[in-house]
Amino acid sequence: MDYTSKISTQVAAVPRSGIRDFFELVQGRDDVISLGVGEPDFATPWHIREAAIYSLEKGQTSYTSNLGLLDLRKRISTYVSDFFKVDYDPASEILVSVGVSEAIDISLRALLNPGDEVIYHEPCYVSYSPSIVMAHGTAVSVATSAEDGFALKADKLAEVITPKSRVLMLNFPTNPTGAIAPLEDLKEIAELCIRHDLIVLTDEIYSELIYGDTEHVSIASLPGMKERCILLHGFSKAFAMTGFRLGYACAPAPLIEAMMKIHQYAMLCAPIISQIAAIEALENGAKSVEIMKQAYHERRDYMVRRLNAMGIHCHLPGGAFYVFPDIKKFGMSSKEFAMKLLEETDVAAVPGDAFGASGEGFLRCCYATSMDQIKEAMNRMENFVNDLS
Ligand code: PLP
Repeated sequence: MDYTSKISTQVAAVPRSGIRDFFELVQGRDDVISLGVGEPDFATPWHIREAAIYSLEKGQTSYTSNLGLLDLRKRISTYVSDFFKVDYDPASEILVSVGVSEAIDISLRALLNPGDEVIYHEPCYVSYSPSIVMAHGTAVSVATSAEDGFALKADKLAEVITPKSRVLMLNFPTNPTGAIAPLEDLKEIAELCIRHDLIVLTDEIYSELIYGDTEHVSIASLPGMKERCILLHGFSKAFAMTGFRLGYACAPAPLIEAMMKIHQYAMLCAPIISQIAAIEALENGAKSVEIMKQAYHERRDYMVRRLNAMGIHCHLPGGAFYVFPDIKKFGMSSKEFAMKLLEETDVAAVPGDAFGASGEGFLRCCYATSMDQIKEAMNRMENFVNDLS
């Protein structure tokens, strides 16, 4: 049978993730040091795992309310109010999802009619453009640059707004660049969103992982913005809970209600065991988050220092756990550079173009791996670039 004619146009139009392609090459090779996958090297803190174990012991294995356990939503409401300075009603303005991944998908599907334009800043997380296309939207990227610290500038955003623009997707700190949004930029972006009546989908998954004195500000907390924002957050990164697959969306009740319709039919609810573990994370996890954050901070500083010292220009990212060095001077495409690095040194990093065309000429190195591995990877990279020049 010719299956190509059986697959939907929307799905056929979407490429496979560039990260997946690259990492299939690495699978099963124990000798490789991976700076690739964007996932904490820490196991989930023990007290959180224990809460999951106890929930099984107690036979808590049922469905939950579609929106998620009310107890969890209450704790999310308190956490979001303390951390992001935005208040959401646990009864109607919070939906617990299967990771931020599901929350992105159901937000877009709830908001878009075919052909609506969704603007996002690039380089960006690999799922954004495909998620927009699969929700029948039109993906419109705005390139950000290393010179601007990969922040989104309002004048660049203004250039791409059209009468069809419906949603703006933001992600600060950004995967893959680690960029954070200066408050002044956020204010200008907020003004534009109000003027053009855009809904903002703000993916704040790395918001705890900001280093130094800078405080995280969510665009949802700016005047007039709560009513037009869907704030997405989750447990994968700061709490090292990727495998629990738990996230949440906070938004005005009519938007949550629309998202809930998709969630209840497609997913029913997020797993109860993960929800119980998440209650423990919010109740007692702050110290563990701080310890992991401290480790990421040291690794970031070390990696950026080593890369710059070996002549690979690398800006200091404000957050997340990625550095995004510029490898253009070596005269190779990102893919060529990453492949050569892998073949010659057994160090795996992701070619920047996996995160959109404006990532070409860069490499994403994730520092959510042990300091020993990072040191060894940097030593190998140093020899590699010495041989190149
Ligand atoms: N958003 C961003 C920016 C990410 O980097 C990731 C994962 O890497 C996700 C969302 C997906 O997170 P989750 O594990 O909560 O689905």
